[in-house]
Amino acid sequence: MIPIIYHPGYNITVFGLERLHPFDGLKYRRIHDALIGDGLRRPGDFIRPETVRADDLARVHTPEYLQSLKSSKVLADILNVSLLARLPAAFIDWRVLRPMRLATGGTILACRLALEHGLAINLAGGYHHAADAWGDGFCVYADTPIAAASLHAEGRVERVLVVDLDAHQGNGTAAAIRPWPWASIVDVYEDDLFPAFKQPEDFPVPIPAGLEGPEYLRIVEEAVPRVLDQVDPDLVIYNAGSDPYFADPLTRLRLKREDLARRDLLVATMARERSIPLAMVLSGGYARDSWRVHADGIEAILGRFDQIEPTRSAEGPAPAR
Ligand SMILES: [Zn+2]
Repeated sequence: MIPIIYHPGYNITVFGLERLHPFDGLKYRRIHDALIGDGLRRPGDFIRPETVRADDLARVHTPEYLQSLKSSKVLADILNVSLLARLPAAFIDWRVLRPMRLATGGTILACRLALEHGLAINLAGGYHHAADAWGDGFCVYADTPIAAASLHAEGRVERVLVVDLDAHQGNGTAAAIRPWPWASIVDVYEDDLFPAFKQPEDFPVPIPAGLEGPEYLRIVEEAVPRVLDQVDPDLVIYNAGSDPYFADPLTRLRLKREDLARRDLLVATMARERSIPLAMVLSGGYARDSWRVHADGIEAILGRFDQIEPTRSAEGPAPAR
């Protein structure tokens, strides 16, 4: 079975304040419940992560930035909810940042398990607007760079490629990994969206608003394999934002649910065909049914790649795979 990482603590509720932001703070639980409801997982099948450790945060984030997160004003700016500036920073930390630290631990765990199993999925994470010294766009911790740096420091990976297909540019990820010669990013993003100032990237693929599924998928089918073959990474971290969805209020791409499921399966298949481990994180998705779009993509991947784990029979050990 493909490891799926989830913790009930991923979900964010701030006594109704979360309604001031289009973000669905219960998206993670809805995806978890959908996978169970659709018969693909039982409640005990999900793997619970640990909260990211301070030394892992410090691999990427500057001490000044981490210190600044004790300010309500700074947090209100990063989270794009100005009313939060009136609340104590410790409260915001408890209700918003603590779930994000747990999800960051989930991204690290997904990368570790991807190296063992070929594929792993964190039902959260993908905070790709957070860099080493700044956060923005509801992203506080640079979970993807943190996970890449942890595994690289342990000598478990030499080259890491981030495949970022969220509709927004992964400016924070791009800035954080820019100094590392061993990490690169291929990023397909709608050019006219936030962030206004795009970060330099190894393989930027800006696309226009209004693209429909077939045109979008042709671009992904051309760009991602080309970069996979050029970089030949030991690990792909797939930032699988569902916001190219036509109903997403923050973007103007026109993909249908089935287009996004096809995209997720395509990316997983491209990595598996090359025997490159892939860790998937969710990133953005702001429509009411974004959870369903993510669940469809995950279910497409499970449908193709979930295998019954080899079990030991009375006759002896199962053949190695
Ligand atoms: Zn996005």
